[in-house]
Amino acid sequence: MKEMIYQTICPGCGVGCGLFIRENDEGKLSIDHMKSSPVNLGKLCRFGMKLPHYYAKANNAVNMTDGSAVDAETAIKAAVEILKDADTDSVALLSVGNTSNEEQMAFTKLAETLGTVVQTGIQKMCMPEPGTLAEIEKAKKIVLFVDPYVQYPLIVRRLLAAKKNGAHIISVGTNPLNLADETLDLKPEQYGELELDSESLIIADVHPNSDAGILKSVKSLAKGTGAGIQFMKPFMNSNGAALLANKDGNMMGLAELMEDIELGNIRTLVTLDSDPVELMPDAEAAIEALKNLDKLIVIGSVNGPAAEMADVVIATDPVYSKAGTFLNVEDSLQENSGTGKAGVDALSLLNAGIGGKTFTHDEMNYLVMKTIGSRETGTAQCKGSEIELSLVEIPEDMYELRYLYNPFMWSDREDDNDFVLLNRNTVKKLGLKKGGCVNLKGEMGELKMRFRVEAIPDGLVLTAKKLPIAKGVSTAISMEVC
Ligand code: SF4
Repeated sequence: MKEMIYQTICPGCGVGCGLFIRENDEGKLSIDHMKSSPVNLGKLCRFGMKLPHYYAKANNAVNMTDGSAVDAETAIKAAVEILKDADTDSVALLSVGNTSNEEQMAFTKLAETLGTVVQTGIQKMCMPEPGTLAEIEKAKKIVLFVDPYVQYPLIVRRLLAAKKNGAHIISVGTNPLNLADETLDLKPEQYGELELDSESLIIADVHPNSDAGILKSVKSLAKGTGAGIQFMKPFMNSNGAALLANKDGNMMGLAELMEDIELGNIRTLVTLDSDPVELMPDAEAAIEALKNLDKLIVIGSVNGPAAEMADVVIATDPVYSKAGTFLNVEDSLQENSGTGKAGVDALSLLNAGIGGKTFTHDEMNYLVMKTIGSRETGTAQCKGSEIELSLVEIPEDMYELRYLYNPFMWSDREDDNDFVLLNRNTVKKLGLKKGGCVNLKGEMGELKMRFRVEAIPDGLVLTAKKLPIAKGVSTAISMEVC
């Protein structure tokens, strides 16, 4: 094989940083920076820099039936048989936006043939129009509901440019940020204290485990003050997935979907580059829920825990070598130079096998462009009710272990964030020694972790790594010295 160079985008988050992936004649991958990419000017965060590990051959999905490797045709035939036998009312399709628009559209076609919808893992909610990331630099006041360093590192340069232009930056939350002029730990009813106006910009994020109550308050804050709002999203094509899902149907949040699986209302699950075990905060609970399914069909490019449990795995091309387009968080359309069409081809055969039509990648691309061209603006997604998630009550004598979501956590990859963050008071109270460890105890068991001291509020423990003792985004724990 001769050396190949692919122009692509990073699958780590919705910023959609452009880069080149170079594949040498032995199949080894390396990164070349794409300075011409307007999104990131060639820069990549730690996740982007580690993409060759993410794309390592060992992580690639393999066509499988009942745990044994098979060819694509056999895997597709097995999936057809499952879907033909299934009660269509109990079939669910899940795609959060980790793949191209064209595969997303093909998945929607499959959903239509089955008489169902593609779930994106985000409950139906009214979303404002995305702004461009360049607008960050022009805002006079910026309110951050995210930690950009950890969650969306490539917007840090925009925030620094805004600061240079005189912007006042407020971080709402518990984690003081270097670039913020002030950090305010505010409850939603106190958001009025932020004193925003039409020259202000709010940056928050929406993901399958977002708290709907907080999102609602953030949107009301923008609406009531005239401030702009930029919702960041954790998946490379979250916007494409939301746009192309046949969303007039019953859209559920990921937690609701998992609950329906647990209750036995969903008996067959088909996923497209969306592993519930990686996406749910409690991996063990997700595995237990998936065991309730009669059949699990996993379609995707990456081998994850759900693929290991699946009755059928249909392998698609790795993101960097796929043909297709993606919509980033600012709704900017980006295109891969790759030519891999295995995903759309497999979905076409699957669709035909259950009584629908075959289709080509070009046809899917045509429909994608048509949908993008004719999309409604403003209130298009504002139909239907919003669902409140309840916040976890933390007993007074316990600590709150809270997830600090980041690209490594969403895709469940190794990182060197092998510590929890505690404040000085907690370290003193527990008698922890520098370089030592802390024992975290919750309902799910206990765990020894290294710790780092940060100026966070009393009672809080932050983790940027998925921990097996966490039950959700927030978990009540006790702690003691190891
Ligand atoms: S994870 Fe997000 S910010 Fe980091 S390189 Fe990838 S797309 Fe850019």
